[in-house]
Amino acid sequence: MKLEDFELGGTNLKSSDFKQGTVLTTEWEPDLKYAWDNGVAIGRYLAELKEGRIIARACHSCKRIMLPPRMFCELCFRPTDEWFYVQDTGTVNTFSIARVNWDASRRGPDEPALLPAVIEIDGASKGMGILHMLGEVEPEEIRIGMKVRAVWKKPGERTGAITDILYFKPIAPARHTPPAKASAGAKKKVKTKARSKAGAARGKR
Ligand SMILES: [Zn+2]
Repeated sequence: MKLEDFELGGTNLKSSDFKQGTVLTTEWEPDLKYAWDNGVAIGRYLAELKEGRIIARACHSCKRIMLPPRMFCELCFRPTDEWFYVQDTGTVNTFSIARVNWDASRRGPDEPALLPAVIEIDGASKGMGILHMLGEVEPEEIRIGMKVRAVWKKPGERTGAITDILYFKPIAPARHTPPAKASAGAKKKVKTKARSKAGAARGKR
């Protein structure tokens, strides 16, 4: 039996009836306000992003450095112990090459692919990563295990959001250094190491 075969009460309405005003309608602009509490851990995490730093939480029991930070260790079932600054460099854990927008509409032929990736951040425990975007890289050049560095918004433009980091770009691999500049490349490597030590010391404070 079809729906039309039933005797239904009332009047069938189409959306065109509302648009044309053939039925009684009323318009109402809702004045809704939302408040979102970031909590202690994510609140500090976002505040530090505004300052151009990435902060994690350490659990002294399982020795993990957790990112994004949390105030409770789900493995040890106890509060975490300490804030810990990590680097703004990391490793691509997984990635995607997206040729559709967030609303599933296809990106135009001139629009570059979106490159979302999970980045394991240096200084945090293995497997601790954040979802972000890759940039300054061709999609076919991306590899799992690729070393990347955060590209930050200018200090005055940051708002305390994960988007204060614009994207992560590849750290140029040493093998592309021309032989004549090999020594300069080596020096640079030492500098990087010193910087990461300084960063680690900063985190221990
Ligand atoms: Zn723990």
